[in-house]
Amino acid sequence: MNFYTSSSNNKMKCTLCQHYCNIPLNKTGICGVNKNIGDKIECLVYGYPAVINVDPVEKKPLYHVLPQSKTLSIGTVGCNFKCSFCQNHGISQEQKINKDKYYSPEDIVRLALKNNCESISYTYNEPTIFYPYIKDIAVLAKKNGLKNIFVSNGFESTEVITHMAGLIDAANIDLKSFNKEYYKKHLGGDLDKLKENLKLFKKLKIWIEITTLIIPNLNDSTEELSNIAKFISNELSVTTPWHLSAFHPDYKMLDHPRTTNNSLKIAYNIGIKEGLKYVYMGNAGLQNNSKCPKCDEIFLQRITYKTTIDKRKYGVQCNRCNNKLDGVFKTARTMSVADTFYSSDCSDIKKQFSHFDNILKEANFKKELPFTPKAIISPHAGFIYSGFTANAVYNMLENIKPSTILIIGPSHKHNFKNTSVSLFEEYNTPCGNIKIDLNYANYLKNKYDFIDFIPEVHNEHSTETQAPFIKEKFPNSKIVEIVYGDIFYENISLIIDEVFKKYPHIFVVISTDLSHFYDKNKANKLDNICLKAIDTLDISIWDKGCEACGRVGVKALINSANKFKLNSKLIDYRTSADISKDDTKVVGYVSAVLGN
Ligand code: SF4
Repeated sequence: MNFYTSSSNNKMKCTLCQHYCNIPLNKTGICGVNKNIGDKIECLVYGYPAVINVDPVEKKPLYHVLPQSKTLSIGTVGCNFKCSFCQNHGISQEQKINKDKYYSPEDIVRLALKNNCESISYTYNEPTIFYPYIKDIAVLAKKNGLKNIFVSNGFESTEVITHMAGLIDAANIDLKSFNKEYYKKHLGGDLDKLKENLKLFKKLKIWIEITTLIIPNLNDSTEELSNIAKFISNELSVTTPWHLSAFHPDYKMLDHPRTTNNSLKIAYNIGIKEGLKYVYMGNAGLQNNSKCPKCDEIFLQRITYKTTIDKRKYGVQCNRCNNKLDGVFKTARTMSVADTFYSSDCSDIKKQFSHFDNILKEANFKKELPFTPKAIISPHAGFIYSGFTANAVYNMLENIKPSTILIIGPSHKHNFKNTSVSLFEEYNTPCGNIKIDLNYANYLKNKYDFIDFIPEVHNEHSTETQAPFIKEKFPNSKIVEIVYGDIFYENISLIIDEVFKKYPHIFVVISTDLSHFYDKNKANKLDNICLKAIDTLDISIWDKGCEACGRVGVKALINSANKFKLNSKLIDYRTSADISKDDTKVVGYVSAVLGN
């Protein structure tokens, strides 16, 4: 899409911002960087950012967008406003373009990924004026799982904002004053158009946070601040965050006084009085916590740009009342046993895996199978105890490349009926993210009435402990996680049947441990029943005393395996006594592979 139209007398109209400049041939518009070159308007700064930095996203400021993440920030020269207090006037009021190095959209996305950024921010000067460059970067960023952020004066054209929908995830927009004259005279803008734009952002569901730079004696009257707060509260939403930023002397306002903390607090109280749920005081080193508007639970703690999150508790909902949090959050599944069942340090996990592999090598472990694997049974205790058994069975899968791995495991922490499929977007394992196959997960949820999404049950270790193995062995696969409560095995078997019948690209992992806390002799006796049932795929044996915690899942697999004439091979069996050396109280672990 182009953001210009031809006009009369060789002029061209730029449709990037609300100035809608009618530009004569070979001239630039107000921003100085969009030029009429005859048959089109060329964005002269395309590929030439003047600044590239890695920032905490809180610095934008955005407090409800991917908290505690890094964002690659880029800005060019030029601006469509002329603010006398501009803190970035060195680039915004500059029109000389440094063309020493060209950065393609691919280069920018690569830089963001290399620096572990979760988003790209178009910031420092007014991004609208280099939107042709932004839109090309943003499309690529999206494809690579990065979010796009606009930090803007809100003077975009309607065409640009409409185009941003679905591409730009969040914006911080300045609402510098509520005085029309001030906007016109001191900034070169139009308050009414800005207000309409803010409403359009909201309507198009682009997450916005508002910033007001509080300048003593210019925009800090109670009346003006109340009007701004009322506008946000009534026309946008009470949950739209309002950032009150402290002014410090800069550019053409070097002799103007700074904003005091007291002024910020007065403005803060005005925002709260007008019903705003998230009011923050920036540039002043003050505590700025985010509280759940429903129950007052603090869900994010921050001082300046440092945000503290308890990652184990953190999700997209309030930890106390389950209220959905306002903002753009990574909808990641809680990793509940990193640091306890397995290390939260990727290098430690890798060391542990190679230790297991070395033992297999020394034992001349054979990886060949007389059939193609379709499913495995894998244990789920701490890696120190059952990691070897699990690693051995994942080693049998070297020749397959499933695009999705369906993990089915019992719930240990929650009593509930039926099953829950995770509809979070990803798993954050210590060795990197694994995407959840949301197409398949949603399909399952819609198809079967015994599958629901119960977010709180997805802090389950029986499924989670499979994730580091999957990340290691199948780095490009997605996963689907089903945690089951009280359910008949025949129901779960329906899901597995469908995979065996119709979806060769999906691989099934059934998670279970065996007997718990008997002495070793008794455990071996009981576990042998389970092993025999798995080996012979005979459910009737299983029911003669096997005490696996994942018995429903294993029975479902055996049931489906018989229907599809699968073979079974036991890979490893041991108990926790092998590590603890305590035979009085043990847990049994088995792994097996099934296929045809
Ligand atoms: S971006 Fe705005 S200021 Fe620049 S040429 Fe286009 S309409 Fe004019």
